[in-house]
Amino acid sequence: MSTHDFDLFVIGGGSGGVRAARMAAQRGARVALAETLGTDGLGGTCVNVGCIPKKLYSYAAHYADAAHESHGFGWEGPAPTLNWGTLKANRATEISRLNTVYGNLLRGSGVTVLNGFARIDGEHALTLATLNADGSPGHQSYTAKHILIATGGTPHVPHFVGREHVITSNEIFDLEPFPQRLVVVGGGYIASEFASIFNGLGSKVTQLYRGEQILRGFDDEVRHFVAAEMVKAGVDLRLGTDVVDVRKTAEGLRVELEGGNTVMADAVLYATGRVPNVKGLGLETVGVAQGKQGAVVVDAHYRTNVPSIFAVGDVTNRLQLTPVALGEAMVVVDQLFGPAAGKPPRSMSYEFVPTAIFTHPNVGTVGHSEAEAREKFGHITVFRSEFKALKHTLSGSSERTLMKLIVDTASDRVVGLHMVGTEAGEIVQGFAVAMKAGATKAVFDSTIGIHPTAAEEFVTMREPAR
Ligand code: NDP
Repeated sequence: MSTHDFDLFVIGGGSGGVRAARMAAQRGARVALAETLGTDGLGGTCVNVGCIPKKLYSYAAHYADAAHESHGFGWEGPAPTLNWGTLKANRATEISRLNTVYGNLLRGSGVTVLNGFARIDGEHALTLATLNADGSPGHQSYTAKHILIATGGTPHVPHFVGREHVITSNEIFDLEPFPQRLVVVGGGYIASEFASIFNGLGSKVTQLYRGEQILRGFDDEVRHFVAAEMVKAGVDLRLGTDVVDVRKTAEGLRVELEGGNTVMADAVLYATGRVPNVKGLGLETVGVAQGKQGAVVVDAHYRTNVPSIFAVGDVTNRLQLTPVALGEAMVVVDQLFGPAAGKPPRSMSYEFVPTAIFTHPNVGTVGHSEAEAREKFGHITVFRSEFKALKHTLSGSSERTLMKLIVDTASDRVVGLHMVGTEAGEIVQGFAVAMKAGATKAVFDSTIGIHPTAAEEFVTMREPAR
């Protein structure tokens, strides 16, 4: 029996922290979880200001297309207009419901949820900064056999004149009033998703990206294809563009670009990457090794250089994806408290991690880009299909779909699968299972398609493109 207050002390109530705390408690461990927002804010970035509200707003934006496209299917009448206040209120209600669900799950598993900011004082010691009943600052000390850092990340905005006028993805969901003109800076997941979403919701969106094409790191053809579709849908995408400053004027925010051009906006969203939340955690005190941008450095078992301290999720600044944090949390729990009854210990592989970018249209991808695969395997065969989805034969939309398979010629294994099109995320998930299982192109070819769907294209591509 441990002499510590807890067997596991989790810092952070986001995806990774909640999963680890809950699973550890279910295995009989005595677990505490500290979250600055208390039970009211459980769920972290994903639930509060990330994946979930973003996807809800993406659905909202798709209704604008649906209303417009319905005319081709015989629907008549004026297009409905967006009540931004209703969307925000309904989103807030759903997020509060999820916060409560997370709290109930934790309490139901026997986790002690602590409201306050946790600082690590020693290998097994922590202090929780709290507020006393009269509002004055207080603190509590705890000891724990193991400590798990799961504090996530926070948006990073570079320094420039007028930085105080811009917002991040933390503020965009509750913006008031609705931005009729939105400037989005960045070319990653967040910038591209919000450019699409607010374009769909009715803003005039200008997306500014410093590089030669958005979504660096993804398959080049996919990047060009989705960028072209976003432009067709109405996003004013300006590549090779840097911001000089942002000034407040009577007509709105004036964004000055290098080269002298300006763009006027009601709001300027900076989506220029995220950095690990490590400030004030006491990592220096205990000597936890940190990497770039302060990221907590862990080994293959998510253990830091201090043997009692572990870290998972965005604070380690690797793959910043909720399902990855969940997977990592499960590995830590299995390692410390044993696997679930009758199950082998879980392991985590970073190969073939599928991901989707909820641009309009979506990008879904798993495995290697064409360039990466060529570099890694030498000889590859590329299959590609580009078409207008059946729905758009009547909808009037000119949106096109791209699907691409990358095959390692020597083994015939499918090593990259990419899609730009409606529900690409939903479609790619299933193919990721096949690819994890090592499916070859011959297996894809022998799979019967579901007709008529877009997804069937992935099993009917016969002629290599190159
Ligand atoms: P990303 O790292 O994906 O993109 C950051 C973007 O900002 C890049 O285009 C980068 O340009 C640009 N940038 C960085 N610094 C500057 C600067 N000083 N000035 C101008 N531009 C700059 O970060 P995001 O914030 O978009 O997202 C963070 C992470 O969150 C993602 O990596 C992803 O893992 C996760 N996420 C996942 C989602 C999903 O699964 N659908 C949705 C949203 C986020 P450059 O390319 O030139 O470096």
